[in-house]
Amino acid sequence: MKPIFRFAPSPNGLLHLGHAYSALLNARMAGEADGRFLLRIEDIDTARCAPELEHHLIEDLRWLGLEWEEPVRRQSEHFADYQAALDTLIEAGLVYPAFMSRGEVRARIDEWTRDGREWPHDPDGTPHYPTDERTMPAAERRLRIAAGEPFAWRLDVEKAMARYGRDLYWDETGAGPAGETGRIAADPSRWGDVVIARKETPTSYHLSVVIDDALQGATHVVRGRDLFHATAVHRLLQDILGLPVPLYHHHDLILGEDGRKLSKSRGDTALRSLREAGMQPEDIRRLVGL
Ligand code: GLU
Repeated sequence: MKPIFRFAPSPNGLLHLGHAYSALLNARMAGEADGRFLLRIEDIDTARCAPELEHHLIEDLRWLGLEWEEPVRRQSEHFADYQAALDTLIEAGLVYPAFMSRGEVRARIDEWTRDGREWPHDPDGTPHYPTDERTMPAAERRLRIAAGEPFAWRLDVEKAMARYGRDLYWDETGAGPAGETGRIAADPSRWGDVVIARKETPTSYHLSVVIDDALQGATHVVRGRDLFHATAVHRLLQDILGLPVPLYHHHDLILGEDGRKLSKSRGDTALRSLREAGMQPEDIRRLVGL
């Protein structure tokens, strides 16, 4: 069986040099391993992802000289797969409906930290969601859902870790932000009770990425270092859902001239702008060091 690599961009903005690096590195590693290279469009956020952005994305990747297998997997066409996994998590009692608004969360944290107590933050620096609703009575949950209150399905990470958290690790051939490499112990509790699905969208990045990596048979996940710590959540979900575990390779991020991470809202390094300014695909390869 050939190794399978995938590049999984979200069409919510224009591709920049960082995406070019990730896509080219994936294709190169696939080539060196005599493997297959797949493309997946991560467009579950239908409000922010637009067909014309997907069109630009494909055009930019082709211009770079990349080739991938057809058909391309488009996440927005597979909500039923994610819903089925969500149902499994609901039946196992590992997710709960979380109703708190942003203001309520803030008030809860303010109340806690007023007398100097620490509130936990995730690896991205965001405060954890309060755990109060883990134990909400089933009748109250039903009533509030029936009343049409907005909510998200959140993972009860403590319960999930108690059942599936033993010996949780992944093998890393790239490196984390602090140079972590080799066998990495996964601690998803650092993220608190992450969102697994939303009321209107039966999935989240974490849920769909593990399902699609499994359905597409990805053996190697090569992606930016900014997703290194999220891998802990992915490992937990894989064990709960009985999915295979790929090898992980988190690569360097391409930084802007100001040393900051590139983003889709910064037009300066968009591949389109570079192409319009007369750059050739070879120039892009040289710029990202490939
Ligand atoms: N869609 C994610 C992004 O564009 C990448 C997800 C992944 O490679 O796991 O940042």
